[in-house]
Amino acid sequence: MSKANIDAVDTGALRGRRVLVRVDYNVPIEDGRVTDDTRIRATLPTLTFLVEHGARVVLVSHLGRPKGQRNDDMSIAPAAARLEELVDVPVRFVPDIVGADAKAAVESLASGSILVLENVRFLPGEEKNDRELSEALASFADIYVNDAFGSAHRAHASTCGVAEVMKEAGRPALAGMLMKKELRFLGDALDNPERPFVAILGGAKISGKIDVIENLLPRVDHLLIGGAMANTFFRALGLETGTSLVEADRVEMAHMLLERAGEKIVLPVDCVVAGEAKAGARTWLLARDEVPPEGSILDIGPKSIATFRDFVERSRTVLWNGPMGLFEIDDFAEGTLGVARAVAEATAKGATTIVGGGDTAAAVESAGLADRMSHVSTGGGASLEFLEGRTLPGVAILDDEGGSQ
Ligand code: ADP
Ligand code: MG
Repeated sequence: MSKANIDAVDTGALRGRRVLVRVDYNVPIEDGRVTDDTRIRATLPTLTFLVEHGARVVLVSHLGRPKGQRNDDMSIAPAAARLEELVDVPVRFVPDIVGADAKAAVESLASGSILVLENVRFLPGEEKNDRELSEALASFADIYVNDAFGSAHRAHASTCGVAEVMKEAGRPALAGMLMKKELRFLGDALDNPERPFVAILGGAKISGKIDVIENLLPRVDHLLIGGAMANTFFRALGLETGTSLVEADRVEMAHMLLERAGEKIVLPVDCVVAGEAKAGARTWLLARDEVPPEGSILDIGPKSIATFRDFVERSRTVLWNGPMGLFEIDDFAEGTLGVARAVAEATAKGATTIVGGGDTAAAVESAGLADRMSHVSTGGGASLEFLEGRTLPGVAILDDEGGSQ
């Protein structure tokens, strides 16, 4: 069932109301400055909507893993400072979460302005989904909004407990606009894709993505597999993989998947091989059955890129998770770049294209192609769990569309 969204509320009723928004500002910070503000910018539609209608907006997020203790290195203050640069309204930061200082700051918050609470994981109650913390957070809210898709797979106080308290009190717990967008793109890909539907999977390991493969296989028309993940499939085909990253304990599983999937699974036919995973190492372009025992497969080769491109070109829906090689080193980035370009071209031709996974999103971003995808998911772990077909607790707890609110 669809979730009740913030943009469907009666806007006249927002003026002067306190809206607690769970955002995912778990962003990289160096020397007190945010180095990638993608996740902050992704919340602007919700925040702009709320301040334009005169709400008093309180933001809560986690950052890093402070393990229930105050840790100045993981203060959310730099994210608040970055947000202030991005919006036209006052943004205040309070170095407190639910204590007296936070309460006073919420009380004095003016309509149409934003208050950012300190990193909620400084409190041990957050990850324990503690009732008392949930109640304290809910006491700041006439309306609760979850716009933190990237944290929705965790049942924590700021993602779950607080929504529960709100519902018990008959107050709204709604999905923010980013949350709505994520659920729509990923949800439609799983349940209602325009065909042909092609998924591209890559990355380091099969093990973390086995349930994604299982869930996607019956839904896709083709599943293209690259990255180190493909190596384990090569082994299942009886091929030499040299010193490549292979999950030996998953070879049997890869074998079974290949038998079950038949033509649906498409593997690379050639690869970039090097003796060492180092920049400037000597590389060879080899067919997949030519890999020597001392070689390591570090990228897909040009023939594979061309094949993958053909599949992508003919698709109406493309879902991509996982780089095609060790893309952090330029010598092994061509496969990932080639696929990124092909997906961008498919978008231009009207296909719906969705990129998920932290490293894949970073690769697409650094290639300057992020805005040429229909949707780049801000949720790494959350998007994987969603693609596994699992219910995300932070989503399940929100009000349903057309519900009592
Ligand atoms: P995502 O974060 O997009 O879900 P993963 O975390 O699963 O992706 O995998 C990304 C990592 O996989 C990258 O660090 C990349 O270097 C690595 N990788 C991909 N292909 C290979 C390969 N052939 N050999 C070694 N590492 C690889
Ligand atoms: Mg990753």
